[in-house]
Amino acid sequence: MKQTIKLVIFGASGKMGRALLRIAAADHRFDLVAGFVGSNTSPIDGAVCPLFAIHQLDELPKFDIAIDFTQPEAFEAILEFCKTRNTALVSGTTGLNDQHRKRMAETAKDIPVLWASNFSLGVAVLNDLVRRAAQILETWDVDITETHHVHKKDAPSGTALSLGQSVEQGAGQVPHYVSHREGEVIGDHTVKFTGPGEFIELRHNALDRDIFVRGALEAAYRLREKSPGLYQFAELIL
Ligand code: NAD
Repeated sequence: MKQTIKLVIFGASGKMGRALLRIAAADHRFDLVAGFVGSNTSPIDGAVCPLFAIHQLDELPKFDIAIDFTQPEAFEAILEFCKTRNTALVSGTTGLNDQHRKRMAETAKDIPVLWASNFSLGVAVLNDLVRRAAQILETWDVDITETHHVHKKDAPSGTALSLGQSVEQGAGQVPHYVSHREGEVIGDHTVKFTGPGEFIELRHNALDRDIFVRGALEAAYRLREKSPGLYQFAELIL
C-alpha cells in the first residue's frame, strides 16, 4: 500500500482553506497534519487537524507537501519555510508581484514548486484553446473580461492575467482587461477575439469552489515526487 502524503494547508481559515480541509480529510491519499491560520486562531468548524498561527511555524510537525491559499504578504515566508523543511509547495495565491515571482524561481532551485492562478481543469484547457486561437487570429482584438465576488482583492484576476499570457504566447497581441466585482461570483472569465465582421468568445464559469480544491490536491499528489523545479499546472494535469 502506498504511504499517505503528509499535507499542511496555509490559509486554512479562508474560503479555499476551509474547502481544502473538508475535501482533503476525505481523500485517503492524504494525511492532513496541520492547518496554518494566519493571525486569527479561532477554531474552524469541522477541522480535523491541529491549527497553528503565523508565529508558530517552528511548531509545525513533519510534512511532505504544503498547499498555500493565502495572500501575497505571506508568500515569501511560506516559500522560505518549505525550503527550510525541504518539502514541495503548491500555491494558488494570486496578486503576486515581480519580487514574489523572483523568490519563487530561486526557491524552486531547491524544492519542487507549482504555482497556478487557477486549478480548474476547464481553465487549463481554456488556456490551451486561447493560445491556439491567438496564433491563428493574430490581427484580431482580444478582450478578457473577468467577474469575481466583491471580497477579491486583486484585479485583473490571476486567471485573467494567465489567459492574457496565453494570448501573448499565441501571436503577441496585448489583450484589454475588464474586471467586475459582483456578489459572491466564484469566477467567470471570457476571452473575446474580435475581427472584421465577426467575433469568437471562449468562456469559463466556475460554479463551485471545490473545482480549485480538487485541482490543487491533484497537483500536490503529482508534485510530491518531482525533483526541484518550477512546475505548471497544465504540464502535470493535461
Ligand atoms: P480568504 O480571504 O477567504 O482566505 C485567506 C486566508 O489566508 C485566511 O486563512 C487568512 O488567515 C490567510 N492569510 C491572509 N493573510 C495572511 C498572512 N499575511 N499570513 C498568513 N496567512 C494569511 O481568501 P480565499 O478566497 O480563500 O483565497 C485565498 C487566495 O487564493 C487568494 O489569493 C485568491 O485569489 C486565491 N485563489 C486562487 C484560486 C486558484 O485556483 N489558484 C482559486 C480561488 C482563490
